Amino acid sequence: MTKPKHFLKYCGKIVVYPPKGSNFDPKENIVIGNVALYGATVGEAYFNGMAAERFCVRNSGVKAVVEGVGDHGCEYMTGGTVVVLGKTGRNFAAGMSGGIAYVLDVDATFQSRCNPELVDLDKVEEEEDIMTLRVMIQQHQRHTNSQLAREVLADFDNILPKFVKVFPRDYKRILASMKEEKIAKEAASRAANEADEQEEADLIKKDAFEELKKLAAMSSNGKDVPGLISVQNLQKVSETELPTRPTRVPDAVKNRGFIIYEREGVSYRDPNVRMNDWKEVMEEAKPSPLLKTQSARCMDCGTPFCHQENSGCPLGNKIPEFNELVYQNRWREALDRLLETNNFPEFTGRVCPAPCEGSCVLGIIENPVSIKNIECSIIDKAFEEGWMVPRPPLRRTGKRVAIVGSGPAGLAAADQLNRMGHFVTVFERADRIGGLMMYGVPNMKTDKVDIVQRRVDLMAKEGVNFVVNANVGKDPMYSLDRLREENDAIVLAVGATKPRDLPVPGRELSGVHFAMEFLHANTKSLLDSNLEDGKYISAKGKKVVVIGGGDTGTDCIGTSIRHGCTNIVNLELLPQPPRTRAPGNPWPQWPRIFRVDYGHQEAATKFGKDPRSYEVLTKRFVGDENGNVKALEVICVRWEKDAGGKFQFKEIEGSEEMIEADLVLLAMGFLGPESTLSEKLGLEQDNRSNFKADYGRFSTNVNGVFAAGDCRRGQSLVVWAISEGRQAASQVDKYLMRDGQDNTTSLVERGKRQQDSSKQTVMT
Ligand SMILES: Cc1cc2nc3c(=O)[nH]c(=O)nc-3n(C[C@H](O)[C@H](O)[C@H](O)COP(=O)(O)OP(=O)(O)OC[C@H]3O[C@@H](n4cnc5c(N)ncnc54)[C@H](O)[C@@H]3O)c2cc1C
Ligand code: SF4
Repeated sequence: MTKPKHFLKYCGKIVVYPPKGSNFDPKENIVIGNVALYGATVGEAYFNGMAAERFCVRNSGVKAVVEGVGDHGCEYMTGGTVVVLGKTGRNFAAGMSGGIAYVLDVDATFQSRCNPELVDLDKVEEEEDIMTLRVMIQQHQRHTNSQLAREVLADFDNILPKFVKVFPRDYKRILASMKEEKIAKEAASRAANEADEQEEADLIKKDAFEELKKLAAMSSNGKDVPGLISVQNLQKVSETELPTRPTRVPDAVKNRGFIIYEREGVSYRDPNVRMNDWKEVMEEAKPSPLLKTQSARCMDCGTPFCHQENSGCPLGNKIPEFNELVYQNRWREALDRLLETNNFPEFTGRVCPAPCEGSCVLGIIENPVSIKNIECSIIDKAFEEGWMVPRPPLRRTGKRVAIVGSGPAGLAAADQLNRMGHFVTVFERADRIGGLMMYGVPNMKTDKVDIVQRRVDLMAKEGVNFVVNANVGKDPMYSLDRLREENDAIVLAVGATKPRDLPVPGRELSGVHFAMEFLHANTKSLLDSNLEDGKYISAKGKKVVVIGGGDTGTDCIGTSIRHGCTNIVNLELLPQPPRTRAPGNPWPQWPRIFRVDYGHQEAATKFGKDPRSYEVLTKRFVGDENGNVKALEVICVRWEKDAGGKFQFKEIEGSEEMIEADLVLLAMGFLGPESTLSEKLGLEQDNRSNFKADYGRFSTNVNGVFAAGDCRRGQSLVVWAISEGRQAASQVDKYLMRDGQDNTTSLVERGKRQQDSSKQTVMT
């Protein structure tokens, strides 16, 4: 394709990618012809593939990403930014006097292809360059769905040294002198500020009350103090300068909405009420002035970070777009946007910690937009309005896929593959579908019947086949042999279910349990009999100690409180997180700060204090004469860096203490998936004992077997599980449809062929 000269002269965004269904490798093929972006002045362009000759010649302002270029790339360029994610032809940057190009020099041949007359070839080391490069590649991936961009971003830190910054010398000099000027100006303004601060400090030393009395006396005499404002006026000024901003108004305006309105996020029900029932703690947010006002706070910023996989939403939810549609009251369209990227917004809208909000651009100076609440309202309204009806696929491909594990990763993979027309069967060893969304996250966070089962029922009506009580690999009815015989591909989505233990003296005592034993049994009994069958570990009348923070710990606290425990303590080995972002945790990273979750708030309401104690190590459990736990011996620790710069904890002598306990719940995280399936299939594991399957490909070392979710990435989040399930489904689909010839044979036959060539052992 050859674009006419000046085709980007009038701004805008151009996105070019290969036709859907094409099977050529874009980075090896030309998708745009000669002289693309010749003389372009402004705008953005993303090309999923190579450009031919004279790409970006005389570009003076365009930002462009391309996956390779022919001869004379960036010739006579005077401005703009170009990222080349692959090969370049000869004479790159000849006569280039402005702008910057970042070239991924994969095979270290770029130097010989570049014309060095006017440019330097530098490393990409400055923070500003790294940020520009990363953001442009993220945009490229977002707009074109480029596999190459995905791979580069997944391993960005390791690949970064291979990028070369092509920097015109004159341009570099000008930028350097501008930078010096800026530094000088900043120094001058700093000095002025310091003088102001000194003045303020001098004022503080004076007795403010006395000063005010003096002012009041003078103003009551009808006199104003020269250079000062009278008390009444002072009051007026403070009233106008510090207005409290509304969170909901009848007809919110978008223009400057982020300045005029304050954030109001998810609201929880009154803890005094909610701790007496098992209903969801979250207040339902219905379409209302609140949501319109909150969506009006979205700035629709030029480069939003909230929907970028690496910094914000792992699903790439189109947040600014659905915010705008909600603002315009176009809920149905907002739903369409949301469902393009998220299979289960009713899950994430309830339990996601919202990394999107952590990376919201408004969050740099303000409280971020309340994205999660808006997301949840869109899907809740959709179900209420009856918009969520079964949509079975129109055609079936005849291919069969078995999915092992029905958590959010397995369900997302199943949903996607079913939509693509494959026959999907989900095998789950528990008696209900949903994985940790059913039996981990308690009912208070996500209703099991109204939310989780509702989704499962919808998927069943769309044609997904669910089999419960199916312990794959253990139960002979569901042997791996059988699954492989009957299916064309298998997706393992079995979660990270191996809990971390605490092997200290007394661990064997009765009353010490893993958190999941407690939580699973509780939800099952609640659903089976409203807790009347007594088949759960009760915390009623007990002193409970939960070891380990995190979501699991919080859920143990919330559950114990609802049982009627008489005391609750939550111990954490790590230090308490800071109240605001630490220096090593800048925006747009997820803020690792101290948070008060629903369980902590309930404990504080019931017992008068937050149950958490930090930097505490459990030394042993102490039992009574009947072998029941009655106390824990703990000691305080201090975290310090060792000689190698690694943080280690040290016990603080004399800080030993006994804590009474009748029930101890271990919530210290998970150590990857159980080993049965990997042993039987001969799966390779990574060094954290997760199933090894590269991010982006999701295929394991065993032909036709894929892995996604916590069993692949280690314990994580629901939003990541959905994201992995979706991506794995797309890889499975490619595998199934890659060529008609090979697909006619069964998975077992193909597996055998692969075994012969790679000599791996497959035991089923
Ligand atoms: C108590 C708790 C609270 C959490 N709270 C949150 C939260 O608030 N927000 C958040 O984002 N994340 C939370 N998480 C994490 C989140 O639940 C997980 O990251 C997510 O569920 C992982 O999804 P998955 O599909 O990979 O695996 P899972 O949800 O673990 O599902 C795996 C399923 O595979 C089944 N299975 C295993 N082996 C077999 C087999 N051999 N045959 C058949 N089936 C098998 C298991 O029974 C299970 O149902 C929480 C986790 C826990 C434990
Ligand atoms: S899924 Fe999570 S990260 Fe993504 S938009 Fe929703 S709340 Fe934000």
